[in-house]
Amino acid sequence: MKTIALTRTIAAVLIAFVTSVNAGVTIQNAPASGSGMVPTGKGWGVQPTQPLSPLISGNGIDYHGGPVMLGTTRIYYIWYGNWTGDTATTILTDFANNIGGSPYFGINTTYYDGNSNYVANQVSFANSTTDNYSQGTALNDAQIQTVVSSAISRGALPADSNGVYFVLTSADVNETSGFCTTYCGWHTHGTISGLDIKYSFVGNSARCPNACAAQTQISPNGNVGADGMAHFIAHELEESVTDPDLNAWFDSTLAGENADKCNWTFGTMYQVANGAYANMKLGARDYLVQQNWLNANGGSCALLGIPSSITVPTTSATGSYTISWGAAPGAVTRYELQEATDSAFTAPTLAYSGLGPSVGITGKANGTYYYRVRVCYSGGCSDYRYGTNGVVVAIFIAPTGKCPAGYNDASGTTYIVDSACGSTYQTINPSQACVPNMCSLDYFNSYFVSDGGIGTGTTYTVTCPQGYSYSCRRHIVTD
Ligand SMILES: [Zn+2]
Repeated sequence: MKTIALTRTIAAVLIAFVTSVNAGVTIQNAPASGSGMVPTGKGWGVQPTQPLSPLISGNGIDYHGGPVMLGTTRIYYIWYGNWTGDTATTILTDFANNIGGSPYFGINTTYYDGNSNYVANQVSFANSTTDNYSQGTALNDAQIQTVVSSAISRGALPADSNGVYFVLTSADVNETSGFCTTYCGWHTHGTISGLDIKYSFVGNSARCPNACAAQTQISPNGNVGADGMAHFIAHELEESVTDPDLNAWFDSTLAGENADKCNWTFGTMYQVANGAYANMKLGARDYLVQQNWLNANGGSCALLGIPSSITVPTTSATGSYTISWGAAPGAVTRYELQEATDSAFTAPTLAYSGLGPSVGITGKANGTYYYRVRVCYSGGCSDYRYGTNGVVVAIFIAPTGKCPAGYNDASGTTYIVDSACGSTYQTINPSQACVPNMCSLDYFNSYFVSDGGIGTGTTYTVTCPQGYSYSCRRHIVTD
């Protein structure tokens, strides 16, 4: 079955490309009206045994309470069947060695667990082994697990609960539950050697390039099967990391995991020397790999992760402050910081462009200013990371007078009523906490608690003392 959406996506980018790109197998989504689904790891959902209750929603993908993979995720390959003389073993080993720390894998760092532990952009290729048709050439799902468990039990690979074991089958091998017809790969988990072992099946795309390879004639590394597999290794890896036990991050309606939501979408592509198309360079090689779901800003398919953080102060009494952001991986060409006076960024201006991790903003008038930052590479820019708040600039006015005679603080400073304060001041009852952004608790405690000189029911406008570090913020005090 062709995926019509893919054809449209590619066509919008480059008409000529359509003829050489296959839509591939449709990842089957089977939504049931009115009820949530849970993932199978194969791209479609099934009815849950218990009612679903997402804990976190809002970016088009929901968190259901299960673990994510934290720290460094280790990739293990099991080359099943006959891979002799096939450059796939080099191409896909290079892929596994370079996907960790890439701008692309950084998308997964927008996912986290119930304790706010975030997925790290850390993947290492740990080890590989071979399996010479121990289960024959037609494997069912249980036999895929057997291939993994036997590799572990015979000591060819370690038992590693922070690993993802990929069973990579040669083109003469079928997976009978639906390879080439309903899926090109899948992931799941099982208890092996007493550990929760995450594993995945990815078959050689050369078995059915019309279904499981984006490019069937030429491909970036000159191996249609391997280049097709890179797509699905990425797909199953990012799903394994964000939904290892099929109970963490997925779309409750469609039971699509993060990669399912972007299957067969490629974003901005470029042409490599042999004429094939790619959308990312990892290490020394180009690959064409699907986009992944960015769990931020309402959610979207993306090729690039966003900066890991942005720090925006909540207030400024001077109109000068610093905006800083977290580093992004890879060969960054610049960060772009935008500023706007509304959180929707309807009229943004460029506040900074450069390689620095922060910028000093100066000379802002009273008002509220919002910031967002993105990272750019030679091939394009990421989506934005938004500050969670704007900066409220309320510039303190220098004191212009003193209090009435006899109204002193402990240091003997004298204050007066300052009629220049106008009507913009907030009313503060000394028995209450400070109004946010209008005075500091320090200021309040120091100068208003023991105001025995002010009569009950009388409203005064008062300056703060000479030399006070915040200079002056005036308040109407109702005693
Ligand atoms: Zn999937």
